[in-house]
Amino acid sequence: MPDHEDYFMKTFGPFPSRRLGSSLGINNMPSKICSYACIYCQLGIAVSMEIKRSRKYHPEQLADEVLGNVNNLHKRNENIDYLTFIPDGEPTLDSGLGQEINLLLVSGIKIAVITNGSLLWQKDVRKDLERADLVSLKIDAVDNGTWKKVNRPHKSLTLEQILRAMFEFSTTFKGKLITETMLIDGVNDGVESLEAVSSFIHQLHPDIAYLTVPTRPPARKNVHASTEDTLNNAFQTFVSKGINTEYLIGF
Ligand code: SF4
Repeated sequence: MPDHEDYFMKTFGPFPSRRLGSSLGINNMPSKICSYACIYCQLGIAVSMEIKRSRKYHPEQLADEVLGNVNNLHKRNENIDYLTFIPDGEPTLDSGLGQEINLLLVSGIKIAVITNGSLLWQKDVRKDLERADLVSLKIDAVDNGTWKKVNRPHKSLTLEQILRAMFEFSTTFKGKLITETMLIDGVNDGVESLEAVSSFIHQLHPDIAYLTVPTRPPARKNVHASTEDTLNNAFQTFVSKGINTEYLIGF
C-alpha cells in the first residue's frame, strides 16, 4: 500500500453530474493505474498497466473518510445522490471494492461505479459490481482493431472475453446499467464502427447509453473529438436501434 496512505484524499466533490445528479467522488485507486491506456485519456501515459486486482487502500479507512465527508455535507444540508467510485484509473483493479461498497451501504446513499468494464470476466469483479446501484461501462469499440487503437488495452486482455462478460453481467445486474461511448475523430466514429457498437449496446438493454467526446484536451496531441455532425449521426444510429441515448456533453 502507498506510503501516503494517511494523507491521500479519497473523496472529492460533491460535483454536479449529468449521469448521477450530485455525486461525491471516491478515489479508490492510486492515480494512473489502469488496464487501458486510452488515446483520449487526460491522465497521460498510465504509470502502470495492470489486470491483476490488489488491495490499494484499507477499505475501513476509505469508508471512514467517505462517511465523515457525508456527515459534514449533511450538516451543511448538501444533498448527495450518489457515492461514485471514479478514480484516476480503473476502480475494479481495487480488490477491496466489494468490501468498500458494503461499508458504505450504511450511508443509505446510492453507490455508482464508473468502470471501463475490461475486468468483468473476473468473477470477483462481477460479484463486487453486483452490489452497486449503478454501473457505467465504457464501450468505445467492439471490433478488435478499433478497440486496440482507441483503448490500447493491456496485452493480456481479449475483446471477445470482455464483450461476453459485459453481456452476462447485463443479464444478472439488478441495478441501473448505463454505457458510455467516447467518440474520437477518424478512429471509432465511422459508420461501420457505430453500427457495430450500437448493435452490441442494444443487446445489453442499458437504462441509458451516453455518447460523449473529450471535453478537455487529451494528453496526445493528434487525438481530436468527433465533429458535431458525426456525433449527431452516432446519436441517430443508436436511437434507430431503440436505445435510450443521451449526450454527456452539451451539444
Ligand atoms: S479507462 Fe479511463 S483511466 Fe483508463 S486509460 Fe481509459 S480513460 Fe484513462
